[in-house]
Amino acid sequence: MSIASPSGATFELAPYKSLDNETLQARINLVRSQMGSSLMILGHHYQQDEVIALSDLRGDSYQLSKMAAESGDCRAIAFCGVHFMAETADILVNQPSKLAERGGQRVTVILPDMAAGCSMADMAAIEQVEGAWEELGEVIDTSDITPVTYINSAASLKAFCGKHGGIVCTSSNARAVLEWSFKRTSRVLFFPDQHLGRNTAKAMGIPLEAMPVWDPIKDELGGNTPEALKNSKVLLWRGHCSVHQMFTAAHVAMFREKYPGIKILVHPECPMEVVDIADISGSTGKIIREVEQAPPGTKWAIGTELHLVNRLKQEHPEQEVHFLSPVVCMCATMYRIDLAHLCWSLENLAAGTPVNVIKVDEDVAKWSLVALERMLAVK
Ligand code: SF4
Repeated sequence: MSIASPSGATFELAPYKSLDNETLQARINLVRSQMGSSLMILGHHYQQDEVIALSDLRGDSYQLSKMAAESGDCRAIAFCGVHFMAETADILVNQPSKLAERGGQRVTVILPDMAAGCSMADMAAIEQVEGAWEELGEVIDTSDITPVTYINSAASLKAFCGKHGGIVCTSSNARAVLEWSFKRTSRVLFFPDQHLGRNTAKAMGIPLEAMPVWDPIKDELGGNTPEALKNSKVLLWRGHCSVHQMFTAAHVAMFREKYPGIKILVHPECPMEVVDIADISGSTGKIIREVEQAPPGTKWAIGTELHLVNRLKQEHPEQEVHFLSPVVCMCATMYRIDLAHLCWSLENLAAGTPVNVIKVDEDVAKWSLVALERMLAVK
């Protein structure tokens, strides 16, 4: 079977949607065998099982980009995740030092479905953050604020942090990043996830009164008084993950009553009321490690994306794994990546007519890298 487009035009998506999974898997595997180690399919933990089965690497967004950047052979990446993840991959794999190692050759990064965005990342647009920074400057000294962006944000926000002495954090190093920030300035502006910011700062002993929430929709000072801003330590952006925000303290109580001895394990993107009463809170990597290392027979109720919890359930039949909610909480945008989109984008890539290429603007990439490198230097 040939996958080259004889006309040089891109293949249309529509016909792929009527193919069955078996055919799509076979065609995806054909591209993988033709491209060999020059192609890396990266699968985020929240992806569907059939996508994970065809991925070369499985991990969280930062891990995946870092591993791809370290691969000497990789010349193309299909990022099965969401838009900001593919941006981060492009920034890291095509940074100047990596380009020099490859004699200037770029790695093509594709996102199989451009509609795979992130509702949390969308809650902080660069124009809103720049506007907030300007308004803050009318009340407090912005040179005494470190802007911190969660890695789940657009590249433009990472670049904003790079330009303003700020930094990126992940859910596993958020505390270390805040500690780094407080050595430099007395305040932090944390975006876009208010919950990760609040949970991390609270664990460091910062009182809630010192964490006003900046609402970009409000006209005046993000809905705050000048006094509240002057007394702040951590300014939280009003953003959240629509998946993790669904878990409640009532869900925790329900599982504890029904399954005595159950351990509640949640992601720090969950609301404070849930994190406060959970047994363990941590990043996706920590959640996986906790389950992997627990003795057989351990009972868990896990508050994170549904696909990951179901996979943990399948891979650890020796333990009892429950999803910490009676309702489905899955990431609808992650779910947009399916075998039809993956096959379509890979065949176009192999035919030399790549579609859905993610290429971050050079200046944005440069400043984003500054903020990412500051994060890497934080111990
Ligand atoms: S799970 Fe939440 S933070 Fe992650 S991609 Fe989906 S909406 Fe964004």
